[in-house]
Amino acid sequence: MEKLIRGIHKFQSDVFAPNELFFRGLADSQAPQALFITCSDSRLVPDLICQTQPGELFVLRNAGNIVPPAMPGAPSGEAATIEYAIRGLGIKHIVLCGHTRCGAMKAVAEPQCTAAMPRVRQWLEHAQASAEIVCSCYSHLTGEAQWKVLVQENVLVQLEHLRTHPAVATALARGELKMHGWVYKPLFPR
Ligand SMILES: [Zn+2]
Repeated sequence: MEKLIRGIHKFQSDVFAPNELFFRGLADSQAPQALFITCSDSRLVPDLICQTQPGELFVLRNAGNIVPPAMPGAPSGEAATIEYAIRGLGIKHIVLCGHTRCGAMKAVAEPQCTAAMPRVRQWLEHAQASAEIVCSCYSHLTGEAQWKVLVQENVLVQLEHLRTHPAVATALARGELKMHGWVYKPLFPR
């Protein structure tokens, strides 16, 4: 924790103070360019890879960059965040970004990894279609190659889940929203 606390002090003196006008400009409202949905993995930093500033990305993160399909009567943090992004903030772009060497996708492929983590296992059932696509269409692949394609297929499956959310479906039908599937690839062994 010491490093984090030192970081806060450094931010206050070296970043906030010389840019106080910029931060004051953000105080009253936000107008982010995109909803950026990605994995919680600490190695993937949206503002770093997009070179964006505070106020530019509205970020939704969880294990495996998963979007549970819309379930009437069963609100979720993901559903609320997506709806607010589109209807509250008027966001016109959703980026769904997976990444290579994703531990969540590894656990999808090897469910025994989550034997002691029943909530993780239950959460990753939202990526079951991704695993079945890989088993069905990429059975010739193994190891790293199979893991990589699972990451890619999962981005496509989660984009389909996004379409089940009424705010997304409506905005797409009106031509007011574009969805983008990305994979962050630096995390791959040499
Ligand atoms: Zn991940």
